[in-house]
Amino acid sequence: MSISRFNAVEKASNRKAVEAVTPNQKVSEYYGENVFNRKAMQKYLSKETYKALTHAIDNGTPIDREIANHVAAGMRMWALEKGVTHYTHWLQPLTDGTAEKHDAFVEHDGNGGMIEEFSGKLLAQQEPDASSFPNGGLRNTFEARGYSAWDPSSPAFIVDDTLCIPTVFIAYTGETLDYKTPLIRSVEALNKAAKDVCNYFNEDVHKVITYLGWEQEYFLVDEELYSARPDLPLTERTLLGHESAKNQQLDDHYFGVIPSRVQEFMKDLEVECYKLGIPVKTRHNEVVPNQFELAPIYEECNLANDHNQLLMSVMKRVSRRHNFRVLLHEKPFMGVNGSGKHCNWSMGTDTDINLFSPGKNREDNLRFITFVVNTLMAVYKYNALLKASIASATNAHRLGANKAPPAIISSFLGTQISEVLDKFENSSIEDAIKVDEKKRLSLGFGQIPELLLDNTDRNRTSPFAFTGNRFEFRAPGSSVNCGSAMLAVNSAVAYQLQQFKKDVEALRAEGKSKEVAIFETLKAYIKESKPIRFDGNDYCDEWKEEAARRGLDCENSVPLQYDVYMKPEVIHMFKETGVLNEKELEARNEIKWEIYIKKV
Ligand code: ADP
Ligand code: MG
Repeated sequence: MSISRFNAVEKASNRKAVEAVTPNQKVSEYYGENVFNRKAMQKYLSKETYKALTHAIDNGTPIDREIANHVAAGMRMWALEKGVTHYTHWLQPLTDGTAEKHDAFVEHDGNGGMIEEFSGKLLAQQEPDASSFPNGGLRNTFEARGYSAWDPSSPAFIVDDTLCIPTVFIAYTGETLDYKTPLIRSVEALNKAAKDVCNYFNEDVHKVITYLGWEQEYFLVDEELYSARPDLPLTERTLLGHESAKNQQLDDHYFGVIPSRVQEFMKDLEVECYKLGIPVKTRHNEVVPNQFELAPIYEECNLANDHNQLLMSVMKRVSRRHNFRVLLHEKPFMGVNGSGKHCNWSMGTDTDINLFSPGKNREDNLRFITFVVNTLMAVYKYNALLKASIASATNAHRLGANKAPPAIISSFLGTQISEVLDKFENSSIEDAIKVDEKKRLSLGFGQIPELLLDNTDRNRTSPFAFTGNRFEFRAPGSSVNCGSAMLAVNSAVAYQLQQFKKDVEALRAEGKSKEVAIFETLKAYIKESKPIRFDGNDYCDEWKEEAARRGLDCENSVPLQYDVYMKPEVIHMFKETGVLNEKELEARNEIKWEIYIKKV
């Protein structure tokens, strides 16, 4: 498009008035009003259907056609009352972003008229013409069929006049073509593996839930300025120009007063998010002028990721009402910080235990150490995979530059936890583990103080940092689907926990007691995973040399980083956890290469 034509289009869109949106209601009164949540389900479904559906959601069991028909009817009624005319299967193809194809509810009624129609069949499965989504060779064009199938664990929602149904996307031949399917599988694998390990300490745990709390960074640019330079619309970053006289030199923008025009945008965005059931909580200025951050209250991983995907599109839409453009590119401006999407990750039980919380008593402490150490082992063994999972052409501009983790994965624990691990490693079993009369195991020495959460000992340079009751994976870029990173973390940790159980059971089979078996295994893991622990400044050059000495993956070239997906140990790990098979990995590797090349 020529620049003049581009400007004309842009100018026309500028004329739109800013809509007044802030409702005079409390958030609690309209939160989730555009979501087919449990409240809506209760109102629009029969008791039996409601029970069957919520049971399926809570237990991940399949939903039969008859129930699906009832759910579809209820959903349609709810949507029609809200003025909705269309529905779509909302899916997450392997390009970043989401895809949708809208169909109207109408069907012929057989008498020359029309009726509103939406069956369980249409809700449950669709066959979108998906031949132009990347498939990495999984589908030949002559059989380019892909199926989208309803994911009941993430509730349907309304955008404008359309009912959006979150779906997984799979090829005719059964291979996955999206981020959502393997993410759900990884959550399931982690549930099983973590539950088994948890049962060493708490027999009453039946389910382990994975949580994700993302922090979305972004830039705002005035619409007029945006359209004045073609590099922004074409590449989402500035290709030429000079540094502004005042940028982040004084660090005075971080947490500074939010400009009123931006504030209006944020308020508007938050209202839209609340209506869609996205529990946004925190907003603030970032370090660079015109850079901001938005973070929600964390949620179950799959739902949280859907919400992040949805947020990115809502953001783009709302920004136009305020004559802004949102830049989600990881590095729109040279010489100042780029944007990331920190993924705060944790596991919790159905009995309300956070597995990364040291807890109040000693039983909790030993379980806590077990999960921390296994996570470290997973990050250590699969550090190259975690890096590949966040690598992209655009993120490559950010990593290693201003205020961003380098292209090396390491983990920060902080002095308190590091000391506990060191002590454990150097203790005898008598000192390290206590067994009470009920045969419960606990940490033998000291308490892990609870002040961790507010602890100032926070290393903001670490790509995978322990932050008191969770790990914060800081390397993902601002524009990505968190699914790529989260499914790698979940699978690696799930596989590691499976190994832990095997190792412990092998020692028990030799006649050792449970406490001795756990003690010896953890001790060996603490030793082995040491190279991944780094509490220093990740940004300095010495670290790069040190990391190479430690054998951590230091590959700088993005497409070469992807090749780790085809390493035998990675293929094996994904196979054992049931998350991705070799064919799917091959396809994903190819798609990542293709997107990289096209972007560059
Ligand atoms: P900071 O910028 O200091 O890292 P923020 O408040 O901006 O922290 O974001 C923290 C994010 O971590 C939020 O999304 C929050 O909901 C999430 N979070 C807090 N506790 C957990 C947890 N146990 N598991 C996962 N995410 C969490
Ligand atoms: Mg933050």
